[in-house]
Amino acid sequence: MYKKVTGTKDILPEEILKWQKIEEISRNIFSLYNYKEIRTPLIEEAALFNRSLGQTSEIIQKQMFLFNPASTDSCALRPEGTASIVRSYIENNLDKTTGFAKLYYIGPMFRLERPQKGRLRQFHHIGTEAIGSTDPSLDVEIISLADNMLKEFSIDGYKIKINSLGCAKDKKELIDNLREELKTELNKLCPDCQVRFEANPLRILDCKNEACQKIVSELKAKKNCLCPECETHFSKVKEGLDALKIAYEINPYLARGLDYYTGTVFEITHEALGAQDALGAGGRYNNLVKELGGPDVGAVGFAFGVERLLLITELENRITASKNLIYLITLGLEAKKEGLKLLNNLREKGMASDTDYENKSLKASMRKANDLNARFVLIIGDDELKKDVVTLKDMVSGEQKEIKQENLIESLKIC
Ligand code: AMP
Repeated sequence: MYKKVTGTKDILPEEILKWQKIEEISRNIFSLYNYKEIRTPLIEEAALFNRSLGQTSEIIQKQMFLFNPASTDSCALRPEGTASIVRSYIENNLDKTTGFAKLYYIGPMFRLERPQKGRLRQFHHIGTEAIGSTDPSLDVEIISLADNMLKEFSIDGYKIKINSLGCAKDKKELIDNLREELKTELNKLCPDCQVRFEANPLRILDCKNEACQKIVSELKAKKNCLCPECETHFSKVKEGLDALKIAYEINPYLARGLDYYTGTVFEITHEALGAQDALGAGGRYNNLVKELGGPDVGAVGFAFGVERLLLITELENRITASKNLIYLITLGLEAKKEGLKLLNNLREKGMASDTDYENKSLKASMRKANDLNARFVLIIGDDELKKDVVTLKDMVSGEQKEIKQENLIESLKIC
């Protein structure tokens, strides 16, 4: 027997209603905020991610699914959405046609991680990218959008943590300061962080190792690294969130693991998720569009992990799709032929309907109709054929009556 690939998941029909609900709520909210959907390929040139996410990021170091890794035109399964969307924005000249663009996406992402609860190799993002503005009120809109989505997903008890990394110059200063301060602690850091110290000390701020976290919590370097412009931007973001009464915490150690982030960064966590506690995350990436060959414009975005939303949402997996299902039971070959025409007719009229394809007995078919939550059952046997009628059973009231074929659709509509 074949098994699914490690770190992937089948989403079975019994779970799909929750997925559809999450997606439907998201699309409704995106449209309220005037974000438009974009769909980019699942594969991209690997170089796009190398350039955007940074050579020292965990994703590039060890989590990319690569095709032809040795070749210069190597491709990768996308590990995240931002780089692809910025690539598409530039390649399709959206900067010239649309200018400022508010985009959203829903789809699978791939990372070669060690699977555990809430951590998969194929998982799904619901995310946004607003490209073409450095206005701090756009940061506020993005965070409030995420906050509203969580409320609509029936999730509470989450925490919104924010920070500002500042502009490229501020970031460099912070990195220098971190190196300076961590120099004396180097041998107390975990082996990974000893490498990060050279490659990119910002990554040490995110390390989950207890000893590293303790050292990080005592750091002074994260103070006063913002230039006046970035400080003002961050103050406006905080004021905007206050005005909307969105609760947040400032976490000066929040760095996010990707190179493209500048300025505001945020993460939304939930204790109930355990070790992998991030529901979603995002921030500004003001240099990425230019770095990938586009105009010098600011941008901000975020993404939720759908699997993690589903672990804690209170949304019910309610069966709504088959609420009005009509289940047809035919007895005998002649009735089956007649039944196929009737099913076709019902579906043409927009009425959800199904029948038995397993040659079950009348009793077993009735049981099946019950299991499917059918609203009505139609029975056609020899008797019905002779009289040109259909037996209609209302599964809610239990009432059963014979109806002339030509009156059936009307009767079902009235019911
Ligand atoms: P990131 O792009 O890493 O900031 O991820 C954004 C969100 O996607 C996270 O907050 C998680 O909810 C989710 N996520 C990231 N990686 C995984 C994974 N390997 N498995 C499941 N969800 C993930």
